[in-house]
Amino acid sequence: MPDLFSDVAPARCSDAAPPWKQVLPGAEPKVVRDELVAAAEWVSRYLSELPAGSVSRPMRAEHRARLREGSLAPQGAELGRVLDFVRAEIAPYPSGNGHPAFFAWVNSPPAPAGLIAELLAGAVNATCGMGENALMDLERGTVRTLAGLAGLPDGTGGVLTSGGSMANLLALATARSWFLTRRGSGDGPDYDRDHARLTLYYSAQAHMSVSKAAACIGVPAHRLRPVPADAQDRLDPDALRAAVAADTDAGFLPFCTVSTLGTTATGAVDPLEAVTSVCRGAGMWHHADGAWGGLGAAVPALAPLYRGVGDVDSLTVDPHKTLSVPVGCGALLVPDPGHLHTAFAHRASYLTAGETDALPWLSHSTVELTRPGTRALALWATLNHLGRDGVTALIEHYLTLAARLRDKITADPRLELLAGGPWPAACFRVTDVAPDDADALHTRVARRIQEGGRAYLATVEVRGRTVLRACVCNYRTTTDDLDVLLGEVAAAVDADRGRSGRTDGAE
Ligand SMILES: *Cc1c(COP(=O)(O)O)cnc(C)c1O
Repeated sequence: MPDLFSDVAPARCSDAAPPWKQVLPGAEPKVVRDELVAAAEWVSRYLSELPAGSVSRPMRAEHRARLREGSLAPQGAELGRVLDFVRAEIAPYPSGNGHPAFFAWVNSPPAPAGLIAELLAGAVNATCGMGENALMDLERGTVRTLAGLAGLPDGTGGVLTSGGSMANLLALATARSWFLTRRGSGDGPDYDRDHARLTLYYSAQAHMSVSKAAACIGVPAHRLRPVPADAQDRLDPDALRAAVAADTDAGFLPFCTVSTLGTTATGAVDPLEAVTSVCRGAGMWHHADGAWGGLGAAVPALAPLYRGVGDVDSLTVDPHKTLSVPVGCGALLVPDPGHLHTAFAHRASYLTAGETDALPWLSHSTVELTRPGTRALALWATLNHLGRDGVTALIEHYLTLAARLRDKITADPRLELLAGGPWPAACFRVTDVAPDDADALHTRVARRIQEGGRAYLATVEVRGRTVLRACVCNYRTTTDDLDVLLGEVAAAVDADRGRSGRTDGAE
């Protein structure tokens, strides 16, 4: 088995190892300190040099295969080798989302306060699931801060999660538990009868994690109801009302509608008040998936779209997207946290210590027991580094840049803007292409840009067509990066035409 560390520069520290050090090599205070300092110096240099480098770098197949091998030498390595390994084998090959010219998906760079806090939280190593500790109270506090920013009422509770997908899963499990408990079929033979009739509603533009979460809680595809969206990609409340009524007449049990705040493809915000009204009328739970756009109420320009957000039954937010908290940090916020406890509080004799009814352990609000304190501290540090105004200003920075990008696209006769906004996205296509080659061309253009390493964007399907999609979610992105991106698009299109021997896109 080849040694993973064999290619890596030799270690800096070479103590003769007494036997205990073979278990935890280099765990002596001085060695730990030196390595922490070396790591800190390396991290700050890495981050400052990132924008000048390539957005991404292709990996050799042998390199990838070696990382996948999982080999483990019988003798432990010295601590310094871990840093050497990261520096040589891992850090040069990110997916690109630290770079200011990275515009794919919704993938942020890490906020400095967050990444420092992750290190500190690792040292404390408290679990935020059981046993009272300072980090668990801090997590409760960060949940309240997020709720306040999102416009949810006082008393809102919730939990941090690994991301939006996990928050959506918790939300659907909570909605199901609330719905069946209210009908008196939370358990017993009626549970099976009712569960087999549950139907779930969401816009056709919703994130795939919603249908995945439904599958996880046992609501199969044939009882999912993707509702058509309007011309601005927002869920159509009349279509929702009609679908719910038809299902009710047919003997189904509509239990939950998921609205989306910031749809993944184009950044649209579903009509919250209208969806809440349908949900109230039909006795359904209203979950809002705001993984991208959940904090819109904190931004004056967006606030009108968020009227009524305080009336949703649950809200997903994803601080690792909009706030640049290091991955993975999502959250589920629930105005009446008692519903979370009904869904997730399972007691055990071996888990009691200082817990009170007024302050249940956070493991009783989620599926995790041992939970990392890194999320809470990284989120808290990032929020406090920004301050309330900083949160608003950060999101406004993204909105301003995306609006500028959309303007530049509109002004360019070679491009056509198809959609984008209010969240910071632009979906656009190249004009003057042969219709039967258009989808494939945009896929080739995106790949060419990705491989070029100067900018990075992805494709998405908008109204049945494959188009280019750029999303602004990096606090270091500037207008210069927008120009780099559009320059790369133009160059990739030219190169593609050269490749196919055509100059005007005609057959
Ligand atoms: C990103 C996203 C998710 C999934 O969140 P992860 O943190 O990637 O798990 C869910 N919903 C929406 C609307 C998203 O944008």
